[in-house]
Amino acid sequence: VAKMTGGCHCGAVKYEIQADVTQVISCNCSICTKRGSLLTFIGESSFKLLSGHKDLTEYKFNKHIISHLFCKKCGILSFARGKDDKGNAVIAINVRCLDGIDPDKLTCMPFNGRDL
Ligand SMILES: [Zn+2]
Repeated sequence: VAKMTGGCHCGAVKYEIQADVTQVISCNCSICTKRGSLLTFIGESSFKLLSGHKDLTEYKFNKHIISHLFCKKCGILSFARGKDDKGNAVIAINVRCLDGIDPDKLTCMPFNGRDL
């Protein structure tokens, strides 16, 4: 499993993840469409927030299940927190925010989040 780093644009929010990112999810829900994010989902234990705890601002909508966390300085959403169908904590990583990754080289899987 590869260790990767990522974060927001201004550098306030930084995190480290353990994941093999080969596929990304392109979700068509109302917020992903506007944001243009490509996602991969990892468990809480594979995620470590290194900095930016106080720079993160939370946005919730619809069923308020997902905590969309963006940097209040630069506005970039580099990850979000949610729960899977068993209630386990999951982190949605915006793969575009990972360091040194070329999203165009990854397999993109469409996801019909609009109908959830
Ligand atoms: Zn920022």
